[in-house]
Amino acid sequence: MSKSPRVRSNTYSPSVAATSKTRSSRLIGVHLSTTGGVANAIRRASAIGANTLQIFSSSPRMWRASKITADQASATRAAREELAIGPLVIHTSYLVNLCSQSEEIREKSVQAFRGEIERALALGAEYLVVHPGSYRGMTRQQGLGLAAKSIQQAIAGLPWQQTPFHILIENTAGAEFSLGGSFEQVAELIEHLRPHAPVAACLDTCHTHVSGYDIVSDAGWADTMAQIEKTVGFDTVRVWHCNDAKADRGSKLDRHEHIGEGKIGLDPFRRLLHEPKFSHAAFIAETPVDASGDEERNVLTLRGLAGSLVPL
Ligand SMILES: [Zn+2]
Ligand SMILES: [Zn+2]
Repeated sequence: MSKSPRVRSNTYSPSVAATSKTRSSRLIGVHLSTTGGVANAIRRASAIGANTLQIFSSSPRMWRASKITADQASATRAAREELAIGPLVIHTSYLVNLCSQSEEIREKSVQAFRGEIERALALGAEYLVVHPGSYRGMTRQQGLGLAAKSIQQAIAGLPWQQTPFHILIENTAGAEFSLGGSFEQVAELIEHLRPHAPVAACLDTCHTHVSGYDIVSDAGWADTMAQIEKTVGFDTVRVWHCNDAKADRGSKLDRHEHIGEGKIGLDPFRRLLHEPKFSHAAFIAETPVDASGDEERNVLTLRGLAGSLVPL
């Protein structure tokens, strides 16, 4: 059952994208650097065969954030419209911990997350992905309450209504004290927040695998899908981070690998990309960049698995 309506941006059209011979009928993209500006990342996404992308809107390892100028915002919107690229996904800075037991860090995190939302709205981004945080020093339940409160504080008064903007809570690798290591925890946070903020989910294949879910065997796949349906629900998953895993299932080690070259392998990605219940979702690789061309290579692998590559 869908609890939130599916919202699409009016600045891109998957059906238009699908009519082009070189485009995928699935929304497939990759995390790209914004060197040279966000509009430049949009152009690069298109050039490497992606029709969606993820970016950082500021340096992910610095508290001080850059501002989005009106020119940058309009150039981004124009590039997206011209190239039919979307949704635009932003990943929150790694420094943000919305359930830190340190009030100082939590306050800094709320301010930084508010900046993330402001930049996302300025750029017209549909999605802002965030890891729920680390609740070290508290109980999981306290951490959950604090994360919900922080997100509520961060978005209060910002003009997200009338936009497709959603905060996506991402499932994590399940390391000790990290909130969001199970679908239940992601669902619980979303339920807490739904009355106060536009929220949905981002699931990561690597995190799902290393946190202990089986997406590799036939029976495991069916069971994992049933668990998603029971918890977050299929419609709530707006983005799938498509990453193979260097580490074993249940290891709780978050090490991304190129698609098809890790412990997950190609077949689960093919299955995911063909799953009609996720036809609305964007599939975005956050795979390593070991050599130039790696982003394009992983996009092409995903497109090939989706059956959307035109034979030469
Ligand atoms: Zn991820
Ligand atoms: Zn990860």
